[in-house]
Amino acid sequence: MAERCPTGFDERLLTAYLDAELTQDDEQRVEIHVEDCAHCAALLDELRRLREAAMNTTFATPPDEQWNETPRTAGSGALRRLGWWIAIPWILVLGSYALYEAWQGAAGALERVLVFGGISAVVLLFLSVLLDRLRDAQGDRYREVKK
Ligand SMILES: [Zn+2]
Repeated sequence: MAERCPTGFDERLLTAYLDAELTQDDEQRVEIHVEDCAHCAALLDELRRLREAAMNTTFATPPDEQWNETPRTAGSGALRRLGWWIAIPWILVLGSYALYEAWQGAAGALERVLVFGGISAVVLLFLSVLLDRLRDAQGDRYREVKK
């Protein structure tokens, strides 16, 4: 295949075409051109494939996938739930202890507010993740029953 379009068609138009950034006139120019030009038709296919592959990769790996990973067996699911149930008291005890220590050790009111706010935020974030996780776990159980 030739490196460039034999008729010198602007290949940036193909990218813009896929991005739906063209005016209706330019869009028609691209469509008419790729009907006649094998080079640009192949290039357009290639660009479209690359784009779809990139999109699929993005959708297949959401940033919070690690929390949604379904346990592979009932055993690993049970272990994971057990792990979370141990983690709850652990984070609560640790959080309370850290709060108590920080409260005793902090000199001024500002320091206390800063430390208290920070630890509370971590505990709240953890609890929110935990609630999602427990809801997912119930979903897992429900799916297992349905199978
Ligand atoms: Zn062409």
